[in-house]
Formats: sequence, structure tokens, C-alpha cells
Amino acid sequence: NGGGSLRVRVTATGEETALAGIMRLVAEAQQSKSRTQILADRAAAWLFYIALGVAAITAVAWLIAVGFDVDVVARVATVLVIACPHALGLAVPLVVAITTSLAARNGILVRDRLALEKAREIDTVIFDKTGTLTEGSFGVVGVETADGWSEQRALALAAAVEGDSEHTIARGIRHAAEERDLALSRVTNFEALKGRGVRATYNGDEVYLGGPRLMEMLDLEPPRALNAFAEQAASKGQTLVYLITSDSPASNGTGEVVAAIALADVIRPESREAVRRLHDMGVEVAMLTGDSEDVARAVAQELGIDLFFAEVLPEHKDEKVRQLQQQGKSVAMVGDGVNDAPALAAADVGMAMGNGTDVAMHAAGITLMRGDPLLVAAALDISDRTVAKIRQNLFWAFFYNAAGIPLAALGYLSPVVAGAAMAMSSVSVMSNALLLKRWKALQ
Ligand code: ADP
Ligand code: MG
Repeated sequence: NGGGSLRVRVTATGEETALAGIMRLVAEAQQSKSRTQILADRAAAWLFYIALGVAAITAVAWLIAVGFDVDVVARVATVLVIACPHALGLAVPLVVAITTSLAARNGILVRDRLALEKAREIDTVIFDKTGTLTEGSFGVVGVETADGWSEQRALALAAAVEGDSEHTIARGIRHAAEERDLALSRVTNFEALKGRGVRATYNGDEVYLGGPRLMEMLDLEPPRALNAFAEQAASKGQTLVYLITSDSPASNGTGEVVAAIALADVIRPESREAVRRLHDMGVEVAMLTGDSEDVARAVAQELGIDLFFAEVLPEHKDEKVRQLQQQGKSVAMVGDGVNDAPALAAADVGMAMGNGTDVAMHAAGITLMRGDPLLVAAALDISDRTVAKIRQNLFWAFFYNAAGIPLAALGYLSPVVAGAAMAMSSVSVMSNALLLKRWKALQ
């Protein structure tokens, strides 16, 4: 930093850093027991008892048949050696350890192993629109005002009302006001109206700013003078918010729409391909948004999405997930925001996106580290491979034991050969699992 000075604020250290959090998530996933793991453990336990039983029967049968002999001891030992189900115990954790770390390296963090195994059964993926399929950074592309209002004045008031909002729309509006060097008025009583917009008091007047849901709440219609502008914005898939205040010639104390602001959000370049890949896998793609019907339709059409829900309030997002589940669908939800958390939790598999909020990450079984919707298809793919590989491994491990035990009991195997066979079974399970390492998220 040359002759200058550098100030650094440490917001988290050690255990609390994002990196430590990621490592914890991976460790948790590797430890958490899944359906197949429980199955394998149970099979291993049974095999152990079967082995003891067969060994006992072998001992008794040979003792009766030929009397005591060194060979009898060797045969019993061989049965015990061959039946030792260590390959079975290895089969699942080995695959899971490999796939979870492989996935993590490709930007897919698995928090819950059940999610990793369930993801392969998903037949419907619901994407949140803003911040997931789109960049989620809005730019003001147009302002239209009612009589008696200038663009400058409307934008300055809008930016002042958005002063304390963390919504991406607010950021876009503040940025536009900044660019135009507008002096912002001071507002009080700021309040965020979730899924609708914001309100505040300016000069004793109530000022509202928001989308279609806000208009509905206030029981307002946009004035006809703004219709052409609104239609044009809608046809381009731009998000439209209205500025409402009682400080207007047309209003007698009640609120009146004084301006419409059009904002454009950029669709992520990967979104189209992401939808196409999911379609190729036979997965239906849906979209969920708090934005207007028009914007939702434009984006859905652009991306080739089958089904969309628009003007959904944050508290109703999870209902849409349940609705699809009730139709017998196995649903994955992909979202980034705090308001997506209930939907993420309700889905069969929740995937939190990129630099999403902590709340979203905690509600989701899987976190996609990059804001890249292509990772969704990759996550379903690695899930499929994980389960397929686990099944192969369980088969081979079980096959070795099942074939070996009767041979050993009948005396066709020596303890040495049995030991080698057991080692072979572990090696085959291991090398089969290691084959997964060739997997790459985005070929
Ligand atoms: P999304 O589901 O797209 O992330 P939200 O539920 O956050 O959307 O918001 C839904 C709609 O509510 C927005 O499209 C917008 O019309 C309106 N809205 C929400 N917050 C604000 C805000 N701070 N300023 C203006 N409009 C807002
Ligand atoms: Mg969002």
C-alpha cells in the first residue's frame, strides 16, 4: 500500500470464519448417517452373527464327521476370516467421503448426507428468480412521472425512502440517485413491507414505494398516464415499482402514484444452459418470485422454464413447494435469500445459492458455493453417482462374503487364500470408489 495507510476490520477469526464453517459442514456431512449407511451397518451386523453361526455349525459338523483334527480348526478360522464384513463397513463411508469432498472441490457443499442421497430422486427443481436465475443487482433503466413531478424529484424521494432497505431494488435506486448527484431528503419512520416494498414519512407525508403487491395492499391503480411506460417495461421483463405519496396535487390527503421506476436485472449467462441440462435429465423446472406476473413470464420464456409462480409473498414461498409435493413430485428448491429459508427447508432437497444469506445456508441440505445455476444439475448428477457407486460396492462386498462362507465351511479354502480374498474385496471396493475421482462438475 505504498505510503498510504491500510485499515482492516476483522469480522471473524478462527472458528467463526467462513472457511472454518465450510470445513465444519463437510465434516458434518461425512459423519451424518444416511439411509444406506444404516442399511450397510445392519447388514454387517447380521453378517457377523451369520459368520459366528456358520463357524459353529462348521465346527460341530466336521467334529461329528471326522472327529477332532487340525483341519477343522483351520476351516473354522477360514469361515471367520472370510465372513469378517470389513469391506461392507467400508463400502458406504468411503464413497461418501470421496463424493462429498469431490463435490466441495467443485463448489457443491453437502451439509446433510440424506440430501446427497435424495437429490437423485428429484423430478422438479424450483428456482427463486431474483439472485438465483438473475444476478440480483438491479439498475434503474427508466423513470416516468405523473403531472407536477420531475424525474429528479421522484428519484430523490425514492432513494431517500429506500435509504435503510437492504433489498437489491433499493440498492439500484440509491445507486441511480447517486449517479445523478441528487440531494436526498431526510425521511423518518422507515419500515420494510416484506415482499411488497417500503414505507417512510417525509415532511409529514406517508411515502410508499413498491411493486404490485403494495398496490394491492393500498388498493391503488397506477394512473393512466403511466400505463404506456408500464406496458413497455413489462414487455422487456423489467421490474416496475411505484412511488406513492400524498404530497401530490392530485391527491386529497390520500396517497397517489406519482412515479413509476423501471429496473432491469441481468439474467445470469449460465441460467439458460442450467435449465436445458435439467430438462435433459428429465427434470421439470419451475420458478418462484415476488416480482410481477409480467416480469416472471418474460424471464420464464427467455429461459424455457415450464412453470412459474409470480407475486408470491415471502411467507407463501414454502406453500408452493408443498403444493408441488402434494402432486407427488420430489422437489428441490434453489434460493439465496432469507425469505427463501422456509421453502428451502420444506423442499425434499434445499440448495442455497452462492453468496446467499447464512439463514438460507442453514435451511438447505446443500450449498452451492458459486452463484452458478449449472451447479444444480451437477449436484443431482453427483448424487446419482454416489448412490450408484454405493450400491455397486455393497453388492461386491456382500458377494465376496456370501460366496466365500460356504466354500470355507466345506473346506475348499485355506485361511491364507481367505485372507487374500478379503483383502481383495477391500481393494476392489476402494478402487471402485476411487474411480469417482474423475468426476467434474461441469463438463
Ligand atoms: P424476490 O422473490 O424476487 O426476491 P421479494 O419478495 O424480495 O422478491 O420482493 C417482491 C417484490 O416486492 C419486488 O419485486 C418489488 O416489487 C417489491 N419490493 C420488495 N422490497 C422492495 C423495496 N425495498 N423497494 C421496492 N420494492 C420492493
Ligand atoms: Mg431472492
